Amino acid sequence: MPELPEVETVRRGLAPVMEGQVMARVEVNRPDLRWPFPERMAERLTGRRVLQLRRRSKYLLGDLDSGETLLIHLGMSGRMTVSGDPLGRFVHDHPAAQKHDHVVFHMESGARITFNDPRRFGAMDLMPTATADQHRLLSVLGPEPLGNDFHEAHLIAAFRGKNTPVKSALLDQGIVAGLGNIYVCEALFRCGISPLRKAGQISAARVATLVPAIRDVLERAIAAGGSSLKDFRQADGELGYFQHSFDVYGREGLPCRTPGCSDTIRRKVQSGRSTFYCPSCQR
Ligand SMILES: [Zn+2]
Repeated sequence: MPELPEVETVRRGLAPVMEGQVMARVEVNRPDLRWPFPERMAERLTGRRVLQLRRRSKYLLGDLDSGETLLIHLGMSGRMTVSGDPLGRFVHDHPAAQKHDHVVFHMESGARITFNDPRRFGAMDLMPTATADQHRLLSVLGPEPLGNDFHEAHLIAAFRGKNTPVKSALLDQGIVAGLGNIYVCEALFRCGISPLRKAGQISAARVATLVPAIRDVLERAIAAGGSSLKDFRQADGELGYFQHSFDVYGREGLPCRTPGCSDTIRRKVQSGRSTFYCPSCQR
């Protein structure tokens, strides 16, 4: 499932092909993904220029010259592929249509952007740009973890009196937007905080350490994603998936990487999601 760094990598890959460019034709090959597509979606997108491609949490937001914003959510298995970009960045020829190519954006430049989603947990919607932040999926979101509104005082206040495990509190999109399972595990390890500890019982000083740790794990992953974009001439044009190594995530039974720690990484299921942590380093 794409997390924030993957979505940001997709955004950075799509931006040069979409921003300032006109969608000459838009194919919508089915009535819905997770939810029905907005009414007359193809018609409302056709001929429109994309002014800006933004990201809020794990949503891509394309502001159009019609005054509407196109929201794209990759869901569990959504993929974006770019082909035939005449600007030379993506040199892949247009592939034959694949099963699950649900939406295809044919850009006036000749580039083609394909949204493929076998499980169809993805979503697209159109809304007025002026009130985009009031959209039902966006209005519930807390601050962006890499933005100025995410700071120590915010997190300390959000955790105060909270009886839920800190892992769950950090996954609460109203407290911080777009953080997923992988990066929460990594940030808690960095801070030496047990994922099982109740959020309200962690000292303010320790909560404060989470802010730079969260920013750092996300920024490092985004940097790895950026490196992956440079290799696209050799790849198949698919955006957003890259190799990245984690300290705890996916490392059950392997030695802890903290110098001097001889423990192994454990896995525990919390609210249906796997938590990876070192019981010696994280208290
Ligand atoms: Zn350890």
